[in-house]
Amino acid sequence: MDFIKEELEEIKERGLYRSLRLIEGEQGPEVDLEGRRVVMLCSNNYLGLANHPRLKEAAVEAVKKYGCGSGASRLISGNMELHQELERRIAGFKHTEAALVFSSGYLCNIGVLGSLMGEGDVILSDEFNHASIIDGCHFSRARVKVYPHSDLNALEGELKGLKGYRRKLIVTDGVFSMDGDLAPLPGIVELAKKYKAMTMIDEAHATGVMGENGRGCVEYFGLEGQIDIQMGTLSKALGSLGAYIAGKKELIDFLINRARSFIYTTALPPPVCAAAIAAIEIVTQDHRLRNRLWENAKFLREGLSSMGLSVGNSETPIIPIIIGESSTTMKAYEILLQYGVYVQGIRPPTVPVGSSRIRTTVMATHNREHLTRALEAFRAVRKELERYNSGNSKE
Ligand SMILES: *Cc1c(COP(=O)(O)O)cnc(C)c1O
Repeated sequence: MDFIKEELEEIKERGLYRSLRLIEGEQGPEVDLEGRRVVMLCSNNYLGLANHPRLKEAAVEAVKKYGCGSGASRLISGNMELHQELERRIAGFKHTEAALVFSSGYLCNIGVLGSLMGEGDVILSDEFNHASIIDGCHFSRARVKVYPHSDLNALEGELKGLKGYRRKLIVTDGVFSMDGDLAPLPGIVELAKKYKAMTMIDEAHATGVMGENGRGCVEYFGLEGQIDIQMGTLSKALGSLGAYIAGKKELIDFLINRARSFIYTTALPPPVCAAAIAAIEIVTQDHRLRNRLWENAKFLREGLSSMGLSVGNSETPIIPIIIGESSTTMKAYEILLQYGVYVQGIRPPTVPVGSSRIRTTVMATHNREHLTRALEAFRAVRKELERYNSGNSKE
């Protein structure tokens, strides 16, 4: 097994080594990171629901009533009341005929793409789609055509050239996870109609965040009823775990019968389902958290831009600060941590070579003091990076 050590060395030499950091206590706008109190600026817990009292209470009550585990996959004996209830709530929330819950977003994407698409089919996939979509495309054994990020002309070019395929599917993130920009959904829907392709959207970062009522990009763009397959997660803004597909009843029946990552895995445990149900209630009944999230995103984005940092095309609470070189990015990460701000440095292969970045995500539960502290830290980063870069001219 010598290759393991060698590969690890190589990863380290390339400045791409990753390791786990430990958060003590709960997931809030500030956390205890290995003995230090820091501002959390890299969580997908957008609305602060992961540690919201109503979700905690719902989970505790569910454990008391239903226990900790579900015992089996849904089709064997693990299908419990809370799964049915959760799916009913999701379908209601998303205004679709039906919904199906998967154990995670990753499992959902590989299961859906792997079952709907196969040999003889073609998938058109945005180059910045999430890894779970990329893996789902591979799983499916369909032909995959990756189009340049959000480029409708290139997408139409690909669609025009397709001949002899059985099924066609266009798949895109709604909010792109590393850039925080939005897919050009109206244009994609139009092209899908013109070229008779199916459409699938991944609303992982949009569920609870985008649209007047938090129903995602489909609501935001006024496209309800026009996307064939809507995927979203329960693990980000909804503060729990799992993912869903919302769509037509027949689609759901098909997935129950065909999606291997639904069939061959244990059903979500009751407390997780109960927390997700409580989260959907909060998201639909209370717009205050979402409003605060957007105010905070605007405040941070404008603050960063005004000090001359590049936030790319961010339009959402995901705000990347594009730096370029991996090592410089990690230097910035360290400086921010010294200033008590916890962010992530994102490097290849997660993002293209030369576009390494600090990725920040804002939460509704941040107060102005948290965000002001973050901006001060970024001001220090800008200064130190200037010094660092002039001392490392090869960078
Ligand atoms: C996080 C994410 C997923 C995976 O969801 P998990 O529930 O964390 O497995 C899928 N797609 C996108 C776009 C994501 O950001």
